[in-house]
Amino acid sequence: MQRTYTKRTTKYCSNCFSKKPLTEFHRWTDHADGYRPYCKLCWNAENRASYWRHRDSRVAAQRDDYRRARAKELAKRAAASSGESHPHARNHPT
Ligand SMILES: [Zn+2]
Repeated sequence: MQRTYTKRTTKYCSNCFSKKPLTEFHRWTDHADGYRPYCKLCWNAENRASYWRHRDSRVAAQRDDYRRARAKELAKRAAASSGESHPHARNHPT
């Protein structure tokens, strides 16, 4: 199958919609054309923005995880101390 394919050297950034040379785009092998849809400038800006966005949600998720783990641990301890007489349970002023 013969296909006339002219190798593109420029690409439109899907964020700022300006035509830029491919050197202004990061390589991205997962993507159909081998480049990221955003130019480096936009990509960096977007990355920075999403980094902080994700950072906040990551911290929140960690906090939730901690709270859940702690609640589970407390429940486990309560169940253990209510069942059998645990030497540790007595040492704790509750
Ligand atoms: Zn751009």
